[in-house]
Amino acid sequence: MTVVRQTAAESAAATGRRRASFHPLTVDEVRRLTDDAIEVTFGVPAELAGQFDYLPGQYVALRTTLPDESGEPKEIRRSYSICAEPRSFADGSSEIRVAIKKDLGGLFSTWANAELKAGDVLDVMSPMGAFVSKHGRDGKEQNLMNSMNHPDEMANALAGSPAPSWQSPQVPASPP
Ligand SMILES: Cc1cc2nc3c(=O)[nH]c(=O)nc-3n(C[C@H](O)[C@H](O)[C@H](O)COP(=O)(O)OP(=O)(O)OC[C@H]3O[C@@H](n4cnc5c(N)ncnc54)[C@H](O)[C@@H]3O)c2cc1C
Repeated sequence: MTVVRQTAAESAAATGRRRASFHPLTVDEVRRLTDDAIEVTFGVPAELAGQFDYLPGQYVALRTTLPDESGEPKEIRRSYSICAEPRSFADGSSEIRVAIKKDLGGLFSTWANAELKAGDVLDVMSPMGAFVSKHGRDGKEQNLMNSMNHPDEMANALAGSPAPSWQSPQVPASPP
């Protein structure tokens, strides 16, 4: 498949003018990285590519409904950093990858590590986050950002840390 790389300026222009909203995306692949971490690749169809343009360092919110401790269906939203550099394909489609570490006792991450599979559909919010490189893809900071976002390195970092440094819940309560 032909990969077309976007310039940071093109991505920045798109992410700057867009309103974050959820869209259903199909899981293309679930790759096990460690015993308690997976990498999930969502396919982004060409018609939604503009909604899922992103810069290294941004994150997406995932939304689904799972049974809570009492078995009642509960809508949950969780944020995950995008762990691969932006790329799109010749047909206009693109992809989003996130790494999910199982958080002991955590509702979504435990479910995702055990159950999530290719073909499943989750609501994914268009990428957010202002912690991005202001330099182009050739800049030192961009290279550092890209290496930090490499899935395997991220998985190793996640696997080696006793507890995630992120807080939850953190997704705004009412985006569309
Ligand atoms: C910007 C951002 C980016 C992030 N990026 C990533 C990423 O790339 N990869 C990643 O793996 N995570 C990431 N996170 C964290 C992620 O969003 C989730 O918080 C994490 O996966 C846990 O979600 P969960 O549903 O599994 O856990 P939750 O169900 O939310 O539980 C979280 C913790 O609280 C405990 N807990 C739950 N309920 C109770 C209770 N009643 N009493 C006591 N303890 C309780 C659980 O045991 C668990 O340890 C990110 C967070 C943010 C804010």
